[in-house]
This record gives sequence, C-alpha cells and structure tokens, in this order.
Amino acid sequence: MRLVATVAGLLDATEGHRLVTAGPVVDEHLPRMQPPRDTHDAIDILAPEPRRQAVIDWDVHHGNGTQQAFWDRDDVLTISIHHDNNYPQDSGGHDERGVDAGFGYNLNIPLPAGSGIGAYRATLQEVVIPALERYRPELIVVACGFDASAMDPLGCMLLNSRSYAQMTQALMKAAERLCAGRLVMIHEGGYSEGYVPFCGHAVIQTLCGSQIAAVDPMNDEIARWGQQSLQDHQSPWIDKAAALVKSIR
Ligand SMILES: [Zn+2]
Repeated sequence: MRLVATVAGLLDATEGHRLVTAGPVVDEHLPRMQPPRDTHDAIDILAPEPRRQAVIDWDVHHGNGTQQAFWDRDDVLTISIHHDNNYPQDSGGHDERGVDAGFGYNLNIPLPAGSGIGAYRATLQEVVIPALERYRPELIVVACGFDASAMDPLGCMLLNSRSYAQMTQALMKAAERLCAGRLVMIHEGGYSEGYVPFCGHAVIQTLCGSQIAAVDPMNDEIARWGQQSLQDHQSPWIDKAAALVKSIR
C-alpha cells in the first residue's frame, strides 16, 4: 500500500519527485506459461486509472512478468533491457511486442553476454529515450535490478556502480523533459551481496543529487576491462530494437 500511495502521490504532484522504494513491480523470475502472481497488484499500482506510464526494466533477466501483465494494453509502455536468453529461456525476443491494443507497446532489447556501459548507453540513447519521447508518459517506473553488474553471479554483463549512476542520470533528464521529473526506481534483482549496495548507493546518490559518495573499490577496475565500449557485434541487437520504436504513438 505504501508503494501505491507513493505512485499516486507522484502522479498528482505538480513538481517532479524522485525516490527509491523496494519490491519488484512483478516477479521478474516468472516461470513461463504461468500467470504472474502479482499481475493485479502491478496493474493497480501502475495503472489505477487511464494514464500513460512507462516501465523500464534494466534487470539482467527478461521482465516477462511485467510484459505479461500489460501485454494487451497501450496505457503502459513496457521496455525490458536484458541479457539475451539468460532467464527465462526462450523469452524476451524482439518479436514479443504485445497483442491487440498493446501491440507495439512491449519493447524487448536483448543484449549479448558481455555488454558493458557502451552497449547500455547506446540502448538508452537509441531505443529507450526515443521510445519515451514518442510515448510521452506521465510517469516513468524503473525496475532497477543490479544483476547486470560485472560482479553478479547470475549475470554476464559488465556494469559497475558508476554505470548505474549514469543510466539513472539519463532517465532523470528524460523524466524532467517529458513528465515533470516523475521517476520511480523500484529495486529488483541483484545477487552480489557485496556489490549491490554500491550500485544502490550510486542510484540513490544520483537521485538525491548528493555529494556523499560510497567509495566503490571495483569501479575503476571494471571500467578498465575490455568490451566496455559499444562493440560491433552488439549494435545489430540495438538497431533491431530501435526499428520497432516507430510503432509507438
Ligand atoms: Zn534479475
């Protein structure tokens, strides 16, 4: 109920607010062919009345629960950035776009293993933000998983805490431009007990505009690793998703 009240408060706010709260939008680790456990809660939270809302899931796993919850609806734009075919298996392809009124309003951006901040930055700039600009949501919700970090035991991506700060900054700017700064970050996955706190702190610090940093001992080390910049083999995955944005109105 606290989350419902928080989102409702943001929708009614005349000035931008940003915050972090806890609890998944919908169980992201939803077995295929099983109704999402929290579908109705998610709809109540995110779409209590007809308003345009966007959910961006950057958890490393496909946001299949959120996709299923809003599969036939165009009042919630769902976007998932995830490691291709990590979990669930055979889920989260570019071709899963929604049905009926919802066709075109589910956007999957699978990325190959080993994607770093270059691929994520390009994904935001070339797919996510153009999609938001076309959709013009009244609220942006981020399913903020931290399992795309290089330290995560279940993911194979290369982000560090600085990456999460940069991605948060990009969405804050988009929210300020498009929906009076209404941006909600909801913590999802992340399985490195030692590293998730650094990523979480980076997001909160960015949202708050705080100067109080948590010194991340792995930031520079991870940033030096190869493949952090956008790689030639990653671009086609992003380009394929970018071509789908024109369906959004
Ligand atoms: Zn996950």
